[in-house]
Amino acid sequence: MRCIECGHLKDKVIDSRISKDGTSIRRRRVCLKCDHRYTTYENVERTELKVIKKNGKSESLNREKLFQGMVKACEKRPVSVDQLNKAVDAIINNIHRDHDMEIPVRKIGLRVMSKLHELDHVAYIRYVSVYRRFDNVKEFIKEIQSLENPSYRRQLEEQIK
Ligand SMILES: [Zn+2]
Repeated sequence: MRCIECGHLKDKVIDSRISKDGTSIRRRRVCLKCDHRYTTYENVERTELKVIKKNGKSESLNREKLFQGMVKACEKRPVSVDQLNKAVDAIINNIHRDHDMEIPVRKIGLRVMSKLHELDHVAYIRYVSVYRRFDNVKEFIKEIQSLENPSYRRQLEEQIK
């Protein structure tokens, strides 16, 4: 970076911080010649991913929407905002890793289910009850019972692929 004060080309990074949503890095730099301090931002360049909805229409992948859905499921549960932020970041990173242009909404739901299953079973069941729209109580009970099955997560992960 060229120093905006003296034009010198050499600087030193004195602090690096990742933004809350994990998509940018803020760096504090100091010019090695005149000691002027300034800040730079680094962002990942990503192609915009489209979410294909059940009705065939598409919309942009929305981190906030994803996050709010999980917050709702975790209401009054022992899951912190920090844990949820990390979970959403992981989901979004994995989506970008596995999909270039578009992703069916169903596959996002499965990823959220898998994360919630990892974080809190009650939150998971809440999310699933909205997401899967059970037709009867029997189906719902079956879902709750299957939580205790050790291979359950693995089955979930397989559906994501
Ligand atoms: Zn300088």
